[in-house]
Amino acid sequence: MNPRGLTISEKIPVQFVDELPQAVDVVVIGAGVIGVCTALSLAKDGVRVLLCEKGRVAGEQSSRNWGWIRQLGRDPAEIPIMQESLELWESLAETLGEDIGFRRHGIIYLASSEKKLAQREAWLDVARPHKLQVTMLNRAGVEKQIDGVAGQWCGGIHTPGDARAEPWLAVPAIARAAQREGALIRENCAVRSVEQTDGQVSSVITESGEVRCQRVVLAGGAWSSLFAANIGLRLPQLSVRSTVVSTTAVPGVYDGCAADEKLAFRRRQDGGYTLALSDLTNHLAGPDSLRFLTSFIPAVKAEWSTLRFGVSGVNYPDGWRTQRRWVSSEITPFERNRVLSPEPDKKAAQRMIERFKQRFPQLKKVGIAHQWAGMIDSLPDIVPVLDQVGSFEGLTIATGFSGHGFGIGPAAGKIAAELAQNKTPEHDLSRFRFSRFSDGSPIDLGPAL
Ligand SMILES: Cc1cc2nc3c(=O)[nH]c(=O)nc-3n(C[C@H](O)[C@H](O)[C@H](O)COP(=O)(O)OP(=O)(O)OC[C@H]3O[C@@H](n4cnc5c(N)ncnc54)[C@H](O)[C@@H]3O)c2cc1C
Repeated sequence: MNPRGLTISEKIPVQFVDELPQAVDVVVIGAGVIGVCTALSLAKDGVRVLLCEKGRVAGEQSSRNWGWIRQLGRDPAEIPIMQESLELWESLAETLGEDIGFRRHGIIYLASSEKKLAQREAWLDVARPHKLQVTMLNRAGVEKQIDGVAGQWCGGIHTPGDARAEPWLAVPAIARAAQREGALIRENCAVRSVEQTDGQVSSVITESGEVRCQRVVLAGGAWSSLFAANIGLRLPQLSVRSTVVSTTAVPGVYDGCAADEKLAFRRRQDGGYTLALSDLTNHLAGPDSLRFLTSFIPAVKAEWSTLRFGVSGVNYPDGWRTQRRWVSSEITPFERNRVLSPEPDKKAAQRMIERFKQRFPQLKKVGIAHQWAGMIDSLPDIVPVLDQVGSFEGLTIATGFSGHGFGIGPAAGKIAAELAQNKTPEHDLSRFRFSRFSDGSPIDLGPAL
């Protein structure tokens, strides 16, 4: 475990140090959950793969998230992929040889009013065709599950088959499994650019040198738009800051994950709870906020009551002074910010503890053990891009998981690996096509972040 015991920072020693090969079949850019799962699938298929990470494996969102693995509340097009992902998580938990905290204790979206409960209930229509195990709970049903103040929630929607895992344990463990299968993984190795010959990917230029390859998967999380722009591709992606707290160890009040209108909480393996506010979305604005404003108007309208604005940080992907264009012999923004690690919002952290105590007054001694923040990358319709890029032969993009990429990571990685091999995935990926932001399609807004 790293020194802070939670998120993975730039300060922890580099662990993945494979030599840079001269040539491979596929280079994967970015070792978050998506890149790591892509590399694992490719290596299992016998493909020669190099996974390049500018900082640390899972240093960004993939170690900073809440650890929810949920089908609940998802976009209809994501549900079949998420169902497969749960099966993959199950098998990873059995085969990795490390406890990644995977537990199927369920997820509940709680409601404090009848109006909210009716809104939650509407998702049953989405779930029904997929034969998901999902039930509506009344007041007593919630109280059977969650040991909080009586009567505070009038009900909720419950997916008992959903799960949780510990992100900062799980993703590096999957990376180690990918290495065992033959994937090469290199930290502190930013990819600066992708080169083409006759319109086809021919190599990547990393900060450590060139690697020949005919296929590339861009899984750069919050950095994907910046990377894509430099190779001439428009990807309208923005990020929001989200603060998270882990509490000191306390007696259990619920073993799964739950959220009401104001607080989200999840039981942790170490006996604490991971907390976050469900009524705060903190957008740190930069030049792309203006550039992509029109595409994001539907999302801004939907989230308006929770949105707070700030200014993007120095050396952030959308910083005001971040370099937007470079040639591959230059040091790039990816090398100037190895691990994107925003300051947590301390007031928000305090509010989480207060709200947690209000809901569970029997927990007399509950304090903040750790607090951190992550930048959540989002696309205008709150669903990812998972597609080959028609105008750039050999390039696959797997990014924009919009606040819910951890749970779907194993299946999304498998799909990205199939696309990179020119195989046809069994899932319908039309909702996730790259061209939807340039072919005149209206923004079809998915569920919230
Ligand atoms: C606070 C918070 C809570 C969340 N809660 C949940 C949750 O409960 N459940 C859920 O399913 N999802 C959750 N999410 C979302 C989830 O964490 C992300 O969707 C997911 O981790 C995205 O994975 P990724 O691999 O696409 O990106 P990342 O994890 O951001 O990884 C991208 C990696 O690419 C690297 N990179 C970028 N550019 C380059 C380059 N040029 N060269 C080399 N490397 C590069 C970066 O350094 C980074 O490590 C949450 C996110 C946050 C921040």
